[in-house]
Amino acid sequence: MIYFDNAATTKPSDNVLNEFVRASNTQYANPGSIHAFGMENRVNIDRIRLNILKTLNLSNKDYEVIFTGGATESNNLAIQGFCLRNAKRFNHIMTSVYEHSSVLNVFKHLETLGFKVDYIKVTPEGVLDLNDLKEHLDGKPVFASFMGANNEIGTTNDYGKIRELIGEDSILHGDLVQAIGKTRIDFTKFDLFNFTSHKIYGLKGCACLIKKKKINISPIVYGGNQEEGLRSGTLDYPSISAFSVAISDLFTNYETEYKKAKEIRDYLVKELGSIDGVALHDFPTCCPYILSLSLTKKKASVVVEALSNKEIFVNSVSACYSKSEVVSYVLKTINRDDIEAKNPIRISIGKYNTLEEAKIFVKEFKEILESIRS
Ligand code: PLP
Repeated sequence: MIYFDNAATTKPSDNVLNEFVRASNTQYANPGSIHAFGMENRVNIDRIRLNILKTLNLSNKDYEVIFTGGATESNNLAIQGFCLRNAKRFNHIMTSVYEHSSVLNVFKHLETLGFKVDYIKVTPEGVLDLNDLKEHLDGKPVFASFMGANNEIGTTNDYGKIRELIGEDSILHGDLVQAIGKTRIDFTKFDLFNFTSHKIYGLKGCACLIKKKKINISPIVYGGNQEEGLRSGTLDYPSISAFSVAISDLFTNYETEYKKAKEIRDYLVKELGSIDGVALHDFPTCCPYILSLSLTKKKASVVVEALSNKEIFVNSVSACYSKSEVVSYVLKTINRDDIEAKNPIRISIGKYNTLEEAKIFVKEFKEILESIRS
């Protein structure tokens, strides 16, 4: 089996699984319980918060970590939570046209509640259009949410420049789900940001939102007031502990993994770029973990299925809507035509992939293209 769909989800690492099993066997108490067994987990979770902030070079005086059940929830908590709480001062809010649906659909919802929403364009090279951003700023503070790396094409945004333009009084949120561990990030540029465990070799159902302590947000779910009332629900200590292992492993091996992914991606770019009927979406800011291409002479869904029959797994667009025949809105935002937008293939590389697998992929891919009719 060759798995090139790491942007959809990753295989949990052995370290993560071992920690999850260990903690589930020995530290299963509810961290909210008042006995010593539960309290021990509460203390452990607070220690994990400190470790995460330290790993990200953030001070625990200024930032705090809120654990959630996933990135969709974290994006909702950050955006809805901030906007609903600060609606008077921050009625003007903005995001980009190529965000993940868990951001875009929240902004669409906020639009119906009366917020003034701007959807900032992206350039044909897949990064936020800073001129368009400038044109939508009127000197007053805004709430802005811009993704770190795009989940379909892997292009990365420059938060230094974005922060410079929106100013220190504006609030900046970053969906860093595809960016963390894949590109260097200065986390101090953000007021709020989030990422999730299952995209970094952790488990599904566990994520976090990190925010500046001085920023107030409202909860979006109500219940037992865990996480200072911002995210009610029993804290899952084993998953959180496994998440913290995934985070530290990500940064311990950053350079080695980056170099390996780049070697694989460079090889794929060279080999696939020369095939007739393949249009690569390869740009200077792409991180080495995602390679997007479109087929201009064959149906991408047919090729993805043929690869799948050979146990080679790539994706068409993002995993969220790849079952239906949807045009890639991301490719449309970078001015790709209908044929390309309807026939995208995403190859996403992870730490378990090898150059050898990429070679097999290229060989099988070429054979499939030759064997199927247009
Ligand atoms: N944000 C980005 C950029 C993503 O790629 C994804 C998932 O693919 C999400 C948010 C949502 O993550 P989840 O489906 O795990 O909640």
